Amino acid sequence: MHMAHDSNCEHDDPPKLTPLHTDNGWLHDMSLSSPTAALVSNGSSGSFDHSYRAWTKKYPSALSAFDQIVVRGEGKKIALFLDYDGTLSPIVDEPDNAVMSDQMRQVVRNAAMHLPTAIVSGRSCDKVFDFVKLTELYYAGSHGMDIMGPGSINSSKKQGKEVKIFQAATEFLPMIDEVFRLLTDKTKAINGVKVENNRFCVSVHYRNVEQKDWQLVAERTNHVLEAYPRLRLTHGRRVLEVRPVIDWNKGKAVEFLLESLELANCKNVLPIYIGDDRTDEDAFKVLRDDKRGFGILVSSVPKESHALYSLMDPSEVMDFLKRLVMWKEEEASSNK
Ligand SMILES: [Mg+2]
Repeated sequence: MHMAHDSNCEHDDPPKLTPLHTDNGWLHDMSLSSPTAALVSNGSSGSFDHSYRAWTKKYPSALSAFDQIVVRGEGKKIALFLDYDGTLSPIVDEPDNAVMSDQMRQVVRNAAMHLPTAIVSGRSCDKVFDFVKLTELYYAGSHGMDIMGPGSINSSKKQGKEVKIFQAATEFLPMIDEVFRLLTDKTKAINGVKVENNRFCVSVHYRNVEQKDWQLVAERTNHVLEAYPRLRLTHGRRVLEVRPVIDWNKGKAVEFLLESLELANCKNVLPIYIGDDRTDEDAFKVLRDDKRGFGILVSSVPKESHALYSLMDPSEVMDFLKRLVMWKEEEASSNK
C-alpha cells in the first residue's frame, strides 16, 4: 500500500478535493468547511437549495434512499462506523463543548445493541469516550491509531484491547507533545485559536477565528511543522490536524476493525460509515473500492466525496440510525 492519501499525496481519482499543500488550497478549503461562507457564495438561500438538491441527485439522501439501502443490507450483518464531531454532535464554537444529546446517545446505544458499532474520531479515545459515555461500542481514537473495545474502557490501564499494531505510533508521542506546546505558543496571539492535544494528533481548531486570520493560522502552523518532517498536516472541518507520517488513516482503521471483529472476508457483512470530515473520505474510499459497503457523507453543503449517500446534519443521522434499528428489529422478528 502506498502512503495514506491525504495531506501530502494526491488522491487516485481526478482531483475532486483540493490539494492541501498549495496556498490557494488552504483558503479554498477553509472556506469550503465553513457552511455560512458556502451559503453566501451561493447567493440567496433559494439558489443554495437548488444546488443542494442537484447535489443530492449524485449523493442521494440516505433517508429518501432508505429502501434501497435496506435491499443492500437484507440478510446481512450491518457494521456501523460513526465519526463523532459533526456527525453525532453538532459542530460548536468550543470543541470541548461538542456534547452529544441524550437522545442521540440513546439512539447510538440502541444501534450498538443490534449492530457492531464503532466510533472513529480524530480525537483521543478518552476524549470521545468522555462525550459518548457508552461502554457498548468500539472506539477508534486518533484516526484509529488508538482502539478500544467494549469492556476495556474504564478498566485501570485499558490493557489488552489497546492493540499492539498501533505501538508504531507511540515513538511519536514526545514529538507530538513538543509540537503541541509550540503550536499553542505560536498561535496564542490569534484570537479564537484552540490547540488540542489528542495524544497521537494535535488539532488546531480555527472555527472561532475570524476569517481574515485563517491564513495566519495556516502560516504559523506550517511554520512550526517545517522542523518536523515526520509529522504531516491534514485538514478537517474547521480544524488543522498534525499527525505522524505513518501509513494509517480512518480507512485503515475500518479495515482493521472489520478484521478484528471477524467481519472482513465475509459476504454477509455490510459496513456503513457515516462522517462529515475530509479524513472520513479515506474510510468512504476503502468501502467503495472493495465494494463491501458504502459511506454516508454528512453535509449541508454540496461537496465532492467518495461517499455514496448523504445526510444533512446530525439530526438526520439520528433519524437514519433509528430507522436502521427499527428495520433490523423487524427483520429479526420476521425471521423467528
Ligand atoms: Mg467530523
